[in-house]
Amino acid sequence: MIAPARASVRFYAELNDHLAPDRRYRTLEKEFFVPPSVKDVIESFGIPHTEVELVLVNGESSDFSRLVQNGDRVAVYPVFESLDITPELRVRPEALREPRFALDVHLGRLAAYLRMLGFDAEYRSNSSDAELVRISVEQERILLTRYRGLLKHSAVARGYWLRQADSRRQATEVVSRFDLARSLRPFTRCMACNERLHPISNAEAHERVPPAIAARHEEFRECPACRRVYWEGSHYQRMRRWIAELTLSNQAGQDAR
Ligand SMILES: [Zn+2]
Repeated sequence: MIAPARASVRFYAELNDHLAPDRRYRTLEKEFFVPPSVKDVIESFGIPHTEVELVLVNGESSDFSRLVQNGDRVAVYPVFESLDITPELRVRPEALREPRFALDVHLGRLAAYLRMLGFDAEYRSNSSDAELVRISVEQERILLTRYRGLLKHSAVARGYWLRQADSRRQATEVVSRFDLARSLRPFTRCMACNERLHPISNAEAHERVPPAIAARHEEFRECPACRRVYWEGSHYQRMRRWIAELTLSNQAGQDAR
């Protein structure tokens, strides 16, 4: 019998979210007979490669395709979009300046929240996994999902596995994770179809909204795609409070770093 080769693997910070509690924050062992790639080793622990920013093998920056050898020490660090990692060390393309998202079919409510905050969030209730991967790659969108398997497609360069299950908490998570508190453009995008809203005249709005609404509001916007008319109703006021909290708590978090 041949003894397998062994490498030690250590995952840092939030990457431990993916591991069972008894395996977190420890040096783990990977056994193999044929040298696997760094990407295969990482994903064999259930961690999508899109969660990874930096890999060191024996202390040297490495890319995903490097083959792991007997006795190698592999250190795997999570994506730090907001921290300053030397560009040469990155294994992924540069962080997106104006993040755009593609959401899997279970995230309709999150899509509406992200659009309400002003972010470009592509979502269809019937996209296949292959379509989602293609849209994310071709349109340089960050793929958001609660399903790790989707992020393991090698084509996916930018993706994020959502920790939260509740849609409003997910929106908070996305804003915090991608440092978006300063990029919010609330109420500028249609929550139903992701298009940017255009202002319309009061005269035009008055023909299209109930008289009681027309009498109480001065500013109206319209979605060019579905022609829905938006105004600052009670829903808007409630959401304003949530957005104010979101901005404050995120900025407090940044100041503390
Ligand atoms: Zn619309």
